Order: sequence, then C-alpha cells, then structure tokens
Amino acid sequence: MGAFAPGAWTLTAEFSDRLLARLADAKFVVAFTGAGVSAESGVPTFRGAEGIWKKSKPEELASMNAFMKNPALVWEWYAHRKKLIASIQPNRSHTALVRMEQMFQQFAIITQNIDNLHRRAGSRTVYELHGNIERNYCITCGRPQTNEEVLRQPGVPRCPACGGLVRPDVVWFGEFLPEDQWDASVRAAESADVFISIGTSGVVYPAASLPVMAKLRGAFLVEVNPEPTPLTERADEFLQGASGGIMSALVARLSAGKSGPPLTEQSLQS
Ligand SMILES: [Zn+2]
Repeated sequence: MGAFAPGAWTLTAEFSDRLLARLADAKFVVAFTGAGVSAESGVPTFRGAEGIWKKSKPEELASMNAFMKNPALVWEWYAHRKKLIASIQPNRSHTALVRMEQMFQQFAIITQNIDNLHRRAGSRTVYELHGNIERNYCITCGRPQTNEEVLRQPGVPRCPACGGLVRPDVVWFGEFLPEDQWDASVRAAESADVFISIGTSGVVYPAASLPVMAKLRGAFLVEVNPEPTPLTERADEFLQGASGGIMSALVARLSAGKSGPPLTEQSLQS
C-alpha cells in the first residue's frame, strides 16, 4: 500500500482486492487489539514521561510486591485510573469492531487492553488477556467486587466476606495471563481465516505470538498501525495509520460490498 499520511484515510479509502476477497470468503475473523485502539478515546498510556505518577513508574506499582508493600499507594493509583477510564468513551475503532462482529459467522476480539471499552461499545466475544479494570477480587477468598463497591470504601478496600485485601482484576508484572482467556485466544488464532492485529506494538509476549500462530495455521494476517512493528514483515497486508479511520473505512467498504455481487478469490482469478 505504500506510505501515505494517516489523515488520508477516509470512507473512500482503497483496500486491496486480495484483502477484500479474503474477508468476503472468511467465516472466522479475529481482531487482536492493543493500546493504539484506545488512544483515540484518550486513554492515557501510563508509559513514558506522562506515565510517571507521583514519581512512580507503572512497573513499581503494578505488581504483587508493590501491593503487599504499600496497598494504599497502589489503590490510590488504581482509583485514579478507574475514574479516568470511566470518564472516557469507546471510539470509531470499537464501533467498527462491533459492526464486524455482526458481519461474520464467527468473530472474536482478543484484547490486551484493560479498559473494558470493547464491551462498553457492544462487542460480545471479547477475550481479555490482561484483565479488566472494572473488575476486582479478594486475594484471600476470590470473591469479586464491583468498582462501585470498591471506590465507596475509603483507603484500601476489604472483602465483606472474609476481610481480605481486594485487588484490581488486572494482570500485573510477573503474573501469568488468565488461563481460560489465553486458551480461548489460542483456539481463536488457530481457527481464524483472517486475523487483524490493530494498534499493538507486537513486543509484549506471550500475547505477541498470537498473530504468528494464526498465520502459521493459514490465516490471512493484516496489521493496522501508525508505524511498522516487528510483525509488519510477516503481515500479508499492512495498513498504515491510526486505527479509527482505517477500521471505519474498512467496515464501510465491507457493508457496501454486501449489496453488490460477492467478491471471491475465484472471481478475482477469472
Ligand atoms: Zn474474601
């Protein structure tokens, strides 16, 4: 597709015949999303210079060690993040993926984002590799607590059932990914006809291995990103730009295609 300004994407953007044909034939489409998908909503990355919160880096707050050492500090940080995230809205990328879910026989989102924006937008099949900031649980008995219950309590929230410490249901540094979410993600990657990696740097493992897994099992691999990543050279198609514009243009193109004769690999060859 070559280089062009991300701003060049409009609802009339051109997509390759190969990509449109693969999507027209696809029964199972998987979208794999990262921070870039939430960026347009204004979700702060908590990385880099603006990631410093009270002189602490995320690595120093998002771990079990940090939590056991100073639960009040870690909770102050999460209360701040929870309020920020509750105040923002899903964007065009999230909406486009909701529409895609309605277009294909099978569709799944695998997300590394914890902001819950896919579900808030209306997506149904969402595998959350790094947890969900709207959920919490007791580290002693596992009882879940809503954000409302947690934020109502001053200081460090406690479990009403056993008095144990309550933590956010997000994956911290040094922790394993939730097994059920990972297993479901691997199954989806291995069954996908088209796998679209969107707004993810492709460097956080094991999540970053999913696109390659999909490709090895025969999926057509698409990457949507403002900049090339380590995944780009393996992608069958690289769509360069911010995801909101590209994904809404793609969905508009697919919807338009539904009214015309179906585009298939065969019709391209003939
Ligand atoms: Zn408990």
